[in-house]
Amino acid sequence: MFILKGIEQLEKAIAKAKKLRPRVEFDHFGRYRVSGSKGGYYTVICKKSDNGYKTVECTCKGAEKGLVCYHAASALSLHIGLARGRQTA
Ligand SMILES: [Zn+2]
Repeated sequence: MFILKGIEQLEKAIAKAKKLRPRVEFDHFGRYRVSGSKGGYYTVICKKSDNGYKTVECTCKGAEKGLVCYHAASALSLHIGLARGRQTA
């Protein structure tokens, strides 16, 4: 799990995601399934904590150590787009 402070944090992970192009499946708002490089899926959960921080959780090993993984970056790009759509709707 990591706290999302800004998009700069995601740059490397986004670059990796663009290269690997994982499949992102929408589960419900804030919850996504992202395909792993060795098959299977990781679950990514994006939420806002009570103190206003945006937190991102992924079930992969890297995220367990607090790293920004490309699964999270992939899910976040979808999540941010959806969140924007909600605000303007
Ligand atoms: Zn991950």
